[in-house]
Amino acid sequence: MSILSLQNISKKYGAVQALSGVSFDVPKGAVYGILGPNGSGKTTLLGIVTDVLKADTGSFTLFDQPATARQRRQMGTLLETPNFYHYLSGYRNLEIAAAIKQRGHDDIARVLQICGLTARQHAAFKTYSLGMKQRLAIASVLLGDPDVLVLDEPTNGLDPSGIAEVRELVRQLAGAGKTIILASHLLDEVEKVCTHVAILRRGQLLKSGSVEAVISRHDFLELAATDNTALQTALAAYPGCTSAQLNGNVVVAVFN
Ligand code: ADP
Repeated sequence: MSILSLQNISKKYGAVQALSGVSFDVPKGAVYGILGPNGSGKTTLLGIVTDVLKADTGSFTLFDQPATARQRRQMGTLLETPNFYHYLSGYRNLEIAAAIKQRGHDDIARVLQICGLTARQHAAFKTYSLGMKQRLAIASVLLGDPDVLVLDEPTNGLDPSGIAEVRELVRQLAGAGKTIILASHLLDEVEKVCTHVAILRRGQLLKSGSVEAVISRHDFLELAATDNTALQTALAAYPGCTSAQLNGNVVVAVFN
């Protein structure tokens, strides 16, 4: 069963073609990575799927049915960091979010538990680590108990321990049966947490399918390295890469 099936999605902003003819299927239970460098169309794609943006052309189905706006709004989405109150506790912040979503105290206790925040629930948000703040953001998305979670760059801006905590939470949620769609510009992240991937370059779908079938490190270096700064960024994502040379748009990389 496909949780989400995209057919030929295109979107322009004025003269900028942000997405052109993108199609792929997200199977139930997948952790589906949307991978590509900055500006490749990841956020636009997530915006369309969650009904924040409208595609110019194309269509998609949710749970094998034409997607209604209502269904899309019922997906758990984290496209940007929520505005939490710094002086209130994690618990109080979730109470506010729960009131908006018409959820009760049982739901708050459930999501705090899932996100490993029960012990610190009464501490002020401002005392939380970066990883805890992001886990609280995910907890707030989980209040509605969605089957599908859509996360835009969930580890962006976090420190190494925060990154590890959030990745572990994503794996745990997938283990509990959620289907997760997440955008990332890091191959490393997709390899560590995703089962499937769609690689975008300048709004076009390069490849999609299971991570093992789709990803070769060479491809992604090629994709990322349009200039030397991009090459350095790409190399930073490859701990095993000992050297690389940019030759036109192609990278010759050596891995140990
Ligand atoms: P990503 O999430 O991969 O960084 P985006 O979906 O944000 O990519 O952007 C895709 C392209 O669309 C980029 O060229 C970006 O500059 C452009 N773009 C995104 N949002 C807007 C907007 N609101 N107005 C004009 N251009 C935009």
